[in-house]
Formats: sequence, C-alpha cells, structure tokens
Amino acid sequence: AKANGGDNYQFFGKEMNTRAVERHFIEGHLRQALDAQEFVLHYQPLVNLQSGRITGAEALLRWNSADRGLVFPPDFITVAEDSGLIVPIGRWVLLEACTQGRRWLHAGLPPVSIAVNISAVEFRRRDFLEGVRSIIEGTGFDPGFLQLEITESALMQDAKAGAAILRELKKLGVQIALDDFGTGYSSLSYLKQFPIDILKIDKSFVQDIDGGNDDGIIVSAVIAMGNSLKKRVVAEGIENAAQLGFLHGLSCEEGQGYLFSRPVTSDALAHLLANGLPL
Ligand code: C2E
Ligand code: CA
Ligand code: CA
Ligand code: CA
Repeated sequence: AKANGGDNYQFFGKEMNTRAVERHFIEGHLRQALDAQEFVLHYQPLVNLQSGRITGAEALLRWNSADRGLVFPPDFITVAEDSGLIVPIGRWVLLEACTQGRRWLHAGLPPVSIAVNISAVEFRRRDFLEGVRSIIEGTGFDPGFLQLEITESALMQDAKAGAAILRELKKLGVQIALDDFGTGYSSLSYLKQFPIDILKIDKSFVQDIDGGNDDGIIVSAVIAMGNSLKKRVVAEGIENAAQLGFLHGLSCEEGQGYLFSRPVTSDALAHLLANGLPL
C-alpha cells in the first residue's frame, strides 16, 4: 500500500508538472498574441423566440494561434485571468466589438445589440469604468446597444462594490446582463437591488429541459420571476426544437444556441443580419 501511495504521488507530481508547463507555454504565447493580432471575435446571434428575428450578437473570443490553430476560451481564459493578461485582452475585445458594431451600422445593416463578456478580474479593477467610457466615446458606438455580461460570482465577490460599479455603468447607458444565471450564488434578493437588465439562463439548465426533471422546473421559475421583475430573459444553449418549444411555451422572449447558429465570423454574422436566419 505504501509503494502504491508512492506511485500515486509520483504520477500526481508528474501531472501537475505537465500542467504547469502547459500554463507556462500558454501564458508566454498569450503575451505576444495581442501584438501579433492573433485574437479574433466570433459572434453568436441572440434571437427573439417569437419572431425568429436576430436581436443581438454575443462576441466570443477566439485565439488564432500560429502554433496551435484556433484556441477556444476554456483553454486560455483562466491563464489570462491569473496572469492579469485578461485586462489588455478584455480591453481589446470591447474595442473590437464596438468598432464592429459601428461598421455593421455604416454598412446599413439593422441595428442589433452586441454583448461582451466581462471577466471578474476586469470588473473589479478601479480603471474598468473609465476604460468602458473611453471606448464608447472613442468608437461612437451607441451604449444603448452595448450589453455587458457579468457572472453572478463576479458580482457577488463584493456585492456592495459590485452594485456601485453597476450603477455607474448604467449611467453610461449600457445594458447589464447577468451571465450563467443559476450556477452561482443564486440569491434572488440581489436581483432587486442591482440594476440588471437581462438574465441569461445558463445552458446547463436549458440542455436537460425536456427530460422531465428539475431543470425544467428551475427554468420555468426563473422565466416567470424574470418576467415579473421586468427583466429580459435569455435562454442559452438551445440546441433542439423540443427545448425551443418548451421555452416558447413559458414566454421566454429570447434565446441563443446552436439550433439558430453557432458563433460565426463577423462577415458571416453580417450576412445573417442582412438575410435573416435560414430557418
Ligand atoms: P459564455 O459567456 O456562457 O458563452 C457561451 C458559450 O456557450 C460559448 O462558448 C458558446 O460558443 C457556447 N454555446 C453557444 N450556444 C451553445 C449551444 O447551443 N450548446 C452548447 N453546448 N454551447 C453553446 P465559448 O465561445 O467557448 O466561450 C466559453 C466561455 O468563455 C464563455 O461562456 C465566457 O465565459 C468565456 N468567454 C468567451 N469570450 C470571452 C471574452 O471575450 N472575455 C471573457 N472574459 N470571457 C470570454
Ligand atoms: Ca456570456
Ligand atoms: Ca453564459
Ligand atoms: Ca459559461
């Protein structure tokens, strides 16, 4: 048993080491990725579930790495957060999304809101607000069409400070969405205290909605509550017609998911804005 424990320890140690090397590799390359212009935003349509019209697009970060090809956020966001690199990266994301929004308008496409994910690390910084303000001014993008997505957990790390930042953001005229709703602290009382415009129901609840289990009950409760608090409710991760039918029946206004479209390039999104979804 002792020898076994020794083996386990060795194996564990080796795995830890591999992971440390991997993190080190990613961090080193992330540092250069901004300068090398290796980041790109893809956009996933937000859809009005009644009309089928596109109401917005969520900007989702991709890293087009020279060494590794297209890398997705789960493989680098944590490293970017731990190293602080998420701050300049996040600033680039916001600038790029607002610039793209202006371009689509100038191209004569119907105006849609653009949603940008904000990391807890960015949100907590004292210069975050000023950064948002200067990008809105610099790009001339209508802040009423800018939707900042913040997770419950980012907000609740310091609820009082979080509420103050949200109030300042509201003064800038932006929309606030609570992302991954239901996965965090789920204290419903703060929904009333905080100036939140949109609830995004986490895809983990939507995925099993039709299985006749608790997820359906949770989703229907969240939609009813959101509607009665006059929040916009967006369901994430809609993949099939059964899920859509369920949400439709519960008066969920908006949704997003592979059923409508995967995240696509800015050109492909422009095409969808011009022609509508191929349904
Ligand atoms: P999220 O904000 O919850 O974004 C939704 C994720 O679900 C995206 O993954 C999207 O591609 C995926 N998705 C959309 N529809 C479906 C569906 O029908 N089924 C399934 N299974 N998945 C679907 P992605 O792009 O890999 O992003 C993962 C996470 O990384 C995001 O989760 C967000 O937390 C973070 N992220 C992405 N872009 C940024 C960014 O620019 N800044 C920051 N701070 N975080 C970002
Ligand atoms: Ca999001
Ligand atoms: Ca989400
Ligand atoms: Ca998520």
